[in-house]
Amino acid sequence: MDAVLSNEILLQAVNEFGSPLYVYDDQRIRDQYGKLVSAFHRSDVRFFYACKALTNVNILKIMHELGSGIDCVSINEVKLAIRAGVEPDKIIFTPNGVGLAEYLEATALNVHINIDNLDLLQQFGRHFGSAYPVIIRLNPHIMAGGNIKIATGHVDSKFGISIDQIDQIIAIAKQTGVKVKGLHLHTGSEIKEVDVFIKGLELILELTHHFPDLTVVDLGGGFKVPYKSEEKGTDMQLLGEKMAETFAVFKQKTGRMFQVWFEPGKFLVSECGYFLVKANILKQAPSRTFVGVDSGFNHLIRPMFYDAYHKITNISNPSGGLCTYNIVGNICETDTFAWDRELNVVRANDILLFNNAGAYGFEMSSRFNSRCRPAEVLVKNGRLKLIRRRETFDDVIAGQVID
Ligand SMILES: *Cc1c(COP(=O)(O)O)cnc(C)c1O
Repeated sequence: MDAVLSNEILLQAVNEFGSPLYVYDDQRIRDQYGKLVSAFHRSDVRFFYACKALTNVNILKIMHELGSGIDCVSINEVKLAIRAGVEPDKIIFTPNGVGLAEYLEATALNVHINIDNLDLLQQFGRHFGSAYPVIIRLNPHIMAGGNIKIATGHVDSKFGISIDQIDQIIAIAKQTGVKVKGLHLHTGSEIKEVDVFIKGLELILELTHHFPDLTVVDLGGGFKVPYKSEEKGTDMQLLGEKMAETFAVFKQKTGRMFQVWFEPGKFLVSECGYFLVKANILKQAPSRTFVGVDSGFNHLIRPMFYDAYHKITNISNPSGGLCTYNIVGNICETDTFAWDRELNVVRANDILLFNNAGAYGFEMSSRFNSRCRPAEVLVKNGRLKLIRRRETFDDVIAGQVID
């Protein structure tokens, strides 16, 4: 059974640190990492946690302790990883649409560089020649992922260099001397089908003969985790087996082998996260009962932004009768966490729990409506540790220049 936090410890966290509150379970992160290691033990593989899912430095330190590298999409994420003690050799810079200046900041920090457009490859190659080998992000023309906002590998996606433009990559490499040490794909998020990953791998392997300096094949992240109890995530054991088979065939044919890199975000931190809110008001409208909570899409945007489903339970009244509610936030828009959701009877001041809140939860929060962001707490060995204090009005006004 996967580790879960008890209602008692979650209620204790709210008592101590207030609501709304993000709580993360250290053990669950370790368990998820263990699943990766076990699934891919047959291959030469390295993991780089895609930290945009959750960037608290305390979380990055856990990843580092586990032996994971960090995948970063901005220079500030690189700086956070370094602050967590991660060695530059274990950091990949995988941005999209940034200019040469931000790349130069990253190269000054000695991290792995991923380039996802031809123009930038040319600029980078002119600047460094063969001195700074790069990884190239390809667009494999594969449509996959939970929804169009998180599908990144289809032909109309802004990500990667089209596999149809491989000749141009080779031409730029020849002309500037830039060395290609890795080929990369990240097809999207919430990809359940093992075959999408295998197809991506096969596509890359077919291109490897163009690149004599290649040592790395980076298959990105995007593993699906279950959000509803009847859902299944990506079958990692099966993926591990199929990947090892694919590589064995390739090695027999070509004699070449590559190290495989993965960049899992959600898989590592979604299920470790719990978001706790308090029921402020109940409103009986003619056709619906609303529960108005002390939070909104400024704190957890996934339901409004992606139509995401998060399991919600009333942990203050777990044996109460069942009622149907719309759970709504306090932001001045149709700010709804869940429509027609069955919950144990909700009373004012009850604490509601959202599951799967670790990935893209706090990280996508904002101060919209001039509200403060919640605190974050880490549970380790049954102990609660505050890892980000709750914001106050001082944070809201900080940075404003007022005469
Ligand atoms: C977001 C992202 C990931 C992680 O995606 P998940 O769905 O969270 O696993 C991996 N690689 C890159 C380049 C990303 O942008």
